[in-house]
Amino acid sequence: MKPLCQVGTASCGACCGLYNRDELSRPAVHALLVRRTRALAAAPRTEEGFRAAAASLRDAGATPLFPSVRVCPLLGYLDEAEARVGCLAHPLVTGGPDLRDCGAYDARICGSFFCPSHSWLSEDEADLVADVCGGNPYLYGLVVTDVPFLRAALGGVAELTGARVERRHLDAPPFRLALARLLALKEELAPGSDGLFGAFRAGADGEPLPRAIDYGALGREGASPYDALLATVGADPRSGNDLEALEAEVRSRLEACAAALDPDFIIRELDTC
Ligand code: SF4
Ligand code: SF4
Repeated sequence: MKPLCQVGTASCGACCGLYNRDELSRPAVHALLVRRTRALAAAPRTEEGFRAAAASLRDAGATPLFPSVRVCPLLGYLDEAEARVGCLAHPLVTGGPDLRDCGAYDARICGSFFCPSHSWLSEDEADLVADVCGGNPYLYGLVVTDVPFLRAALGGVAELTGARVERRHLDAPPFRLALARLLALKEELAPGSDGLFGAFRAGADGEPLPRAIDYGALGREGASPYDALLATVGADPRSGNDLEALEAEVRSRLEACAAALDPDFIIRELDTC
């Protein structure tokens, strides 16, 4: 199974409850992680010490968006640069004792859980998202857990250029930047948007439910040419996002990717004007 949780400079804390809070802006999540990291650095590395620290941190947490999904107070920053999130109770972090039993689950569950992205993402997709979002754990966690969004984003670029996006394309800094900006759509959605947690909506068979925009209800005759991506980010009033505004953003970010990847793209676009 391909690694996703900690790979290269990329790290994820989604299943430890990182985004399960009513205030989930990047600054709010960062502040929470800093508070936890400092508190646990000062706590004795014993069961008693970590249980006491976890209890005080739990009380200070925000209201969960999904009450049935646990939020673990032992998730924090692993490095001084605050560029990597991870489990502060893991033996590799404590330097000895495994203190994960003091968190929201227990060491056995923590060590054996792999989210569905582990089986859905291809090696290439996993490498690509880790490479683009590495060093930005807030964005990486949102993207790596949302396979339909990632595929729609990469598919949208491929549709414009006629070529599949590959990891080697990231060697070109302008394309890397443009793709990072496209994926950053996930950070900019309205709170509560379908697009934020789409990957968490599973059908009875455990597979993700398709997301769809009701264009008729919005007074639009046909689907947007960017429907695949718009549907995954919840470009629909029910999600709190404005379809027209999001469509313009999607178009501009996809075209920036295409132009950075394929210099002939701009010439072809001009020819069709
Ligand atoms: S949500 Fe998935 S990728 Fe993220 S830490 Fe959990 S198992 Fe790993
Ligand atoms: S104890 Fe488990 S749930 Fe808590 S941060 Fe560590 S791995 Fe995540």
